[in-house]
Amino acid sequence: MTMSQNTEATISQAKSFVNRNFDSFTSELIELAKIPGIAWEAFDAQDLERSAKAVSELLKGTQVFDFVDVRRSHADGKPGAPAVVARRAAKNGKPQILLYAHHDVQPPGDDGAWQTKPFEPTLKGTRLYGRGAADDKAGIVTHLAAIRAIKEIAGADFELGLTLFIEGEEEAGSPTFRNFLDENATDLAADVIIVADSGNWTVEIPALTTTLRGLVSQVIEVSTLDHALHSGMYGGAVPDAMMATIKLLATLHDEAGNVAIQGLKQGKADELPYSEDQLRTDSGLLPTTQQIGSGSILDRIWTKPALTVIGIDGQTVAMSSNTMLPSVKSKISLRIAPGEVPEEALALLRAHLEANLPFGASLKYGEIELGKPFADLKGGWAKPAAEAALSAGFGQESVNIGIGGSIPFIADLTEVFPEAQILVTGVEDPDSRAHSPNESVDLEMLKKAMVSEALLLLAGNAHEAR
Ligand SMILES: [Zn+2]
Repeated sequence: MTMSQNTEATISQAKSFVNRNFDSFTSELIELAKIPGIAWEAFDAQDLERSAKAVSELLKGTQVFDFVDVRRSHADGKPGAPAVVARRAAKNGKPQILLYAHHDVQPPGDDGAWQTKPFEPTLKGTRLYGRGAADDKAGIVTHLAAIRAIKEIAGADFELGLTLFIEGEEEAGSPTFRNFLDENATDLAADVIIVADSGNWTVEIPALTTTLRGLVSQVIEVSTLDHALHSGMYGGAVPDAMMATIKLLATLHDEAGNVAIQGLKQGKADELPYSEDQLRTDSGLLPTTQQIGSGSILDRIWTKPALTVIGIDGQTVAMSSNTMLPSVKSKISLRIAPGEVPEEALALLRAHLEANLPFGASLKYGEIELGKPFADLKGGWAKPAAEAALSAGFGQESVNIGIGGSIPFIADLTEVFPEAQILVTGVEDPDSRAHSPNESVDLEMLKKAMVSEALLLLAGNAHEAR
């Protein structure tokens, strides 16, 4: 199979189409971002319905789909959040491309920390501020722009297959996503899946997200006594559970701050400029605090394991007395490298804990959470086509980036559609502040993202038939 490159003429057609229509695309983004569709139980489900409806109307308006539906999974008798599914079947052996985004948003959080109203999208300079302006309503309008561009440039009878899947519960952890995929597998099946829910390297430099770390979390309970003791009576002769827990947890990192668990996989990130100064600024590291770990900073945050103790059940300072605790629970969160198997990482973590348990304390395991990492290892025509489209759309060479966290639904996609090539693209940039107050999207970058996705669809449409 050969990859079709867009001609200079097509590239300028795509740019001019997006330029001509960008004001109306921006208005659509503003209208969508006014709807506070939040899939958390504490929020009004009506808004989420309105949000799904608005997206389905926009998709119907393109007049390219065989159907546009609002659907939900009915796993366990409890309906999931409304997702929008639209499909136009591929013709003459052309590829089927699925475009993913989500229409639900994060709760606004602390209203006082917003400089504009979270659900009153506000333009300041080149940035549009508002909850969902970037994550992920910018993804939806990018797909819409690309669909309209292919219709305009390749003609209404274009042969590329297109599937739209706009989820409605991503920010709530996609609880019914897997069921939804299984129930709608026929309509969602595709050769290429484009997930527009990540970021670009900068507003100028486009990126594909090619690695995501996975997650292993484990609750443990360390016990040393069968009841609480007065520390003035027995302290010094018997260990309390807090002391044993602290000693145990302290073995999980080496002196430099690397994860000390033997046998965990680690990879290498692409070499992109990222300085210690930038790390300090981005992370808010205090002036005297040193960075930890070894290897490049991007290796450490994208392709090596990282471990954080995210909870310890002890006594609060306010309620503390001179008591030795008999048992202490804690929760360990281990980010695992792309290519790691969560079950294997969990076994290595447990082997480490058991080998380092001090004073013959007793160790019990509680709740576990496992999330698969993602690594783009498949190859295929779509990735080079996407790189060419991004480079043309931005006028800058596209780079490969990683994410230190996970996007759990991507693991589900790889399981249900093992043959599909998955591309994770971005509509966010380093200043987007997704999930935080003052979320925003850079409109100049969004325009380039729209051109790029249009070019990718056009390349798919010109792709040799299977
Ligand atoms: Zn998102």
